[in-house]
Amino acid sequence: MLHRIIHNLRTFPQDVCYEWNGTAYRNSELYRLICRITRYLRKHNPSKQPVAVCGQKEFFMLASFLACACAGMAYVPIDASIPEERKKRILAQIRPVVTIDKTIELLAEDGEPLDLPEICMADEDVVYIIFTSGSTGEPKGVQITCRNLKSCMRWLESLCRIEHGVILNQASYSFDLSVADLYLPLLTRSSHFILEQGIQKDYARLFRALQASRAEMAVFTPSFLDLLLVDSSFNAELMPQFKTVLLCGEKLTPKTVELLFRRFPGIRLINCYGPTECTFAVTSAEITDPTDISIGTPKDDTDVYVVNDRMEALGEGKIGELLIVGESVGKGYLNLTGDSRFFQYQGRNAFLTGDYGYRKNQKLYCIGRKDTQIKLNGYRIELAEIENTLHRFEEIERAAVAAKKRDGKVTRIYAFVKMKPDSGLSASDIRAWLKTELPAYMIPRIQLVEQFPLTENGKVDTKALLEDMA
Ligand code: AMP
Repeated sequence: MLHRIIHNLRTFPQDVCYEWNGTAYRNSELYRLICRITRYLRKHNPSKQPVAVCGQKEFFMLASFLACACAGMAYVPIDASIPEERKKRILAQIRPVVTIDKTIELLAEDGEPLDLPEICMADEDVVYIIFTSGSTGEPKGVQITCRNLKSCMRWLESLCRIEHGVILNQASYSFDLSVADLYLPLLTRSSHFILEQGIQKDYARLFRALQASRAEMAVFTPSFLDLLLVDSSFNAELMPQFKTVLLCGEKLTPKTVELLFRRFPGIRLINCYGPTECTFAVTSAEITDPTDISIGTPKDDTDVYVVNDRMEALGEGKIGELLIVGESVGKGYLNLTGDSRFFQYQGRNAFLTGDYGYRKNQKLYCIGRKDTQIKLNGYRIELAEIENTLHRFEEIERAAVAAKKRDGKVTRIYAFVKMKPDSGLSASDIRAWLKTELPAYMIPRIQLVEQFPLTENGKVDTKALLEDMA
């Protein structure tokens, strides 16, 4: 896969590979920067420690990821918007010798010769580590191997059937949703068109970018698509080339599908399912009927079983937990050997997802979570991580975090907090402190309480607490 990418970059130097805010970058520029950064990495990171790459989807990030892969080093994308504290926690886990940021273009010398001596990444090497919310209060680093990524891209190429087009990117590089729209263009001679982070706060700019993109395909979360569909000018007139939308990461609702089909008659809608731990996604369904939203069937080299507590596969129509087995299953969490969700199943790598689902007429359906991991606006969040972070705050006696849902979708997170006597701190003080620890999308509404209501078995009754909340 890497050889093919490098081959494309060298063979078609004039192809546009990346577009950002009106500026188009060509393969020749990408290749040149990859060579420079690879040389820099070989010199400064001989022990091949994972490399932290910090930014907000700039061109140098794309070049750095590929340079790391060529140099045989895992890259760790870190979004520049996360608080310093969280960044420190991630860096403490990866202990990088080299951290790349926007200064890399100055640091990496522009010497000759340009040719990459060799590509040093083996199939079993970790190609990237993406950090997700961790229930213990520490972010968890998911390790994905080159072999996992190859398998994912092989599948996506045949699924998406795009060649020489433009693919829209929504997600930050620190979320694995972006893996699809980052690698697919490089393999299919297409252009990776960036929607800048936060652009959705300015609809006029966002819609200008959508129109200018001439995109044929996009990789979105359903929440982001909903946000676009709010405006009736998001339609086939604005984006006449738009033919395929790949959705992943959240439950897709009939309302979203109906509206999309009305605005873009004939559009191909692919609903993908899978956790970061299994390399972007493992199942897909082409949705044609808004009343039948399945997650479809697994990719060829990966199985998804519906299992009971004893890991026995259940038959059609029976609800159980989704167990992913095969080539897509990643290498486990960084520094966390023996996590019980990663194991061997009939001699193959397996990951127990925590998602409930069932199979009907050969298709899989995902119906919810077993635990308190949620999705809010497309972001994966462990409520326990917020709770554990609050418990690090000395003035807090006890905290309980819960998600308010409407029509099965999380609309808001609440943290119910009991302060220590005489603390004198307000809800906004806690919020301000949380902002130094957690990314913006994880910050809950804070509700101070005197006493926690308890359920019959003595646990905090979050249902009762949520009842009065909007
Ligand atoms: P992430 O690791 O951020 O990709 O989140 C993975 C989780 O998102 C899964 O374990 C599911 O709970 C949820 N998810 C992903 N895709 C879908 C989908 N198509 N339908 C319903 N839930 C999904």
